[in-house]
Amino acid sequence: MPSAIVVGAGLSGLVAARHLHRAHWNVSVLEARDRVGGRIQTDCVDGFMLDHGFQVYLTGYETAGRELDLAKLQLGAFPAGAFVQLEGKRYRVCDPLRSTWYMAPLHAIETLLSPVGNIADKLRIAAFRDRVSKSSPEELLGVRNVSAKERLHQMGFSETIIDRFFRPFFGGIFLDDTLSVSAGVMEFVFRTFSLGQAALPTLGMHAIPMQIAADLPSGSIRLKTTVESVSDGRLKLSDGQTLSADHIILATEEPAAKRILANGAQASGSVAQLSSIVAPQNATVLPPQATSCLYFEVLDPPIHEATLVLNGQKRGVINNLCFPSFAQPTYAPPGKALLSVSTIGQTESPGRDLLALVRDQLVEWFGPRANAWRHLRTYRVPYALPNQSPASLAVTDNEPKISDRVWRCGDYCETGSIEGAIQSGLATANQILAS
Ligand SMILES: Cc1cc2nc3c(=O)[nH]c(=O)nc-3n(C[C@H](O)[C@H](O)[C@H](O)COP(=O)(O)OP(=O)(O)OC[C@H]3O[C@@H](n4cnc5c(N)ncnc54)[C@H](O)[C@@H]3O)c2cc1C
Repeated sequence: MPSAIVVGAGLSGLVAARHLHRAHWNVSVLEARDRVGGRIQTDCVDGFMLDHGFQVYLTGYETAGRELDLAKLQLGAFPAGAFVQLEGKRYRVCDPLRSTWYMAPLHAIETLLSPVGNIADKLRIAAFRDRVSKSSPEELLGVRNVSAKERLHQMGFSETIIDRFFRPFFGGIFLDDTLSVSAGVMEFVFRTFSLGQAALPTLGMHAIPMQIAADLPSGSIRLKTTVESVSDGRLKLSDGQTLSADHIILATEEPAAKRILANGAQASGSVAQLSSIVAPQNATVLPPQATSCLYFEVLDPPIHEATLVLNGQKRGVINNLCFPSFAQPTYAPPGKALLSVSTIGQTESPGRDLLALVRDQLVEWFGPRANAWRHLRTYRVPYALPNQSPASLAVTDNEPKISDRVWRCGDYCETGSIEGAIQSGLATANQILAS
């Protein structure tokens, strides 16, 4: 029976392992942390479900939809559209065609009258949605050398709607409020939003990787096992142990994969392996996207729906917030609501801690009642998404094969998303099977 070792029990590694296992390979997964799931984790705190950073499953994901048993996840969906918070008021921006029939006329009027952009901007959003819905993901992702901001300007959007809506909306998705993500990735995600809904599983986002892990044979996942180096078919653990298999798949984040390969190349003196992992000369190495997420218990929610609230002003640390428990009631105990607040980047300001800055802004938006909202936890995620700007994509190597026996997968090889991680795990496993 052929054998493979997968390094990393995030979504991409788990999917690759399951695919090889289903093809009757002997597979083991090594994971540095004490649980599977990588960047998708959920804690249960005082009856609240807290994901490690606000994230959602998009029902428009095609590959993920085939790989996961969505019925078992029992998804609770967010309403389409968003609120934009501007100078003490919230304005709804949504496509009335996606509202419930009895709310559609009201939502259409609210959207057209909101000062979030001019009427032409709102018609352009509808045309944008129509175009991306009719395009294939491959077509959209092909546009790699233009930034999202440049593309929105090319489409004729005003500075007002870019600043008040697109910046916080795509900023919250790509964790980059400068809109420097590549236009192709932005359009792919907008397409996915247009074709489905954002949703949360009953048992939290961690239920997604757990579902895949459950299909692997018991004992095949080794937790608290850190891999130090990999070179042709052999790997070394941090405790000095060495293991070997016919094939090794590096399913870690990109920086960890580079480090593990560089250690292996150094130990074995493999110039070929080293040159395949070092970025081209003069390449700009850009930092990953970071975020922090703060959760609060709220007894008197000011909004009774899960619709995302975007910061339409370039002021304050909050990029977006929402009450996820209105989309998925299991996220809070009965009679209580969960508030999730997201910030972008490594937010810290000298002298004031992040919680104090967030609290001040909540009071500004919702009044003194926000002082009583109990802070549950803050999650800081320094590596949330790979950098997906045109400059970064130009130097990212997404070829699964590193050498005859060493392979890679991960969201950075496709798109920084659940869909991208699953696609990459499958693509790598399929290439190994074909080889
Ligand atoms: C805050 C946040 C919000 C997000 N929002 C969304 C969203 O709304 N929708 C969406 O689709 N996607 C979202 N994403 C992205 C999505 O979660 C990721 O793209 C996906 O989970 C990445 O999976 P992966 O397998 O590529 O990597 P990872 O999940 O990072 O897995 C890599 C694994 O490798 C392990 N590892 C690293 N080094 C070693 C080593 N030396 N030895 C052994 N193991 C090692 C790590 O511990 C980790 O478990 C979000 C991510 C974050 C963090």
